[in-house]
Amino acid sequence: MKVFVFDLDRCNGCHNCQVACKDEHCGTSWLPYAAEQPETGQFWCKVDEEVCGKVPHVRVNYLPRLCNHCDDAPCIAAAPDAVYKREDGLVVIDPASKHDPEALVASCPYGAIYVNKELGIAQKCTGCAHLLDDGWAEPRCVDSCCTGALRFGEEGDFADEIAQAEVLIPEAGTAPRVYYLNKPRRFIAATVVDIEADEVVEGAAVTLMRVADEATVATARTDEFGDVWLEGLQPDRYRMSIQKEGYLELFQEFDLSEKDGSVPEMRFYRMPVLA
Ligand code: SF4
Ligand code: SF4
Repeated sequence: MKVFVFDLDRCNGCHNCQVACKDEHCGTSWLPYAAEQPETGQFWCKVDEEVCGKVPHVRVNYLPRLCNHCDDAPCIAAAPDAVYKREDGLVVIDPASKHDPEALVASCPYGAIYVNKELGIAQKCTGCAHLLDDGWAEPRCVDSCCTGALRFGEEGDFADEIAQAEVLIPEAGTAPRVYYLNKPRRFIAATVVDIEADEVVEGAAVTLMRVADEATVATARTDEFGDVWLEGLQPDRYRMSIQKEGYLELFQEFDLSEKDGSVPEMRFYRMPVLA
């Protein structure tokens, strides 16, 4: 049984996979696997972009998405006469079948199914089953990925990576066959500035505590740009303290439940000199 494995650390957002999918399926019918994909309105493979943080602490995360070829697929349950699972694990909507396309769209928790209004059918990624049956080792999207971020193959060959991977929307319980490695966590970034000297502060000691249990989750020092980046954090509430000899200790709270934390200018004040 086949799986897709995305290593998000390797994805540079080039969109080659998305374009290759369009190139393969727009303007060409691959019956009996799939009817032609319309030029617009459908993305059987789509690279989502998420801009995180605030200037100057900005990251862009890329998340390629396609049909998850679920083992417990709600789309098959919704239309068992129209959608089938192949022996290699790929899930295909029979373009010649009679089905309610809107009901199929509603059945998929991943938003992977689209309606072709002209043909009156539902459509989605086929895993390029027509190419695999013609001797290709992998679908077009995987073939086009030059960074090795997107791979496809036998489940057993990826066992070690699958053990460390995550799936999207696990709570849907559909047993997806698309796995993600290195999904980005939240970060906190800040630039520490000596407001009197109008300079960044290098070498300040940064400690991050979780508010709930006051456990220290990270320590670091500001770099030559006065910056500190604390990565790989869970969505939670945190308190950061910054210390350096000659300065008043600085505190800042962050709530990462919805977004990353970024403070473009954390103002560090010098200790008052006693007369
Ligand atoms: Fe069906 Fe959606 Fe799962 Fe693909 S991702 S197999 S369309 S339920
Ligand atoms: Fe990422 Fe590869 Fe797709 Fe480019 S082709 S966006 S590197 S998965």
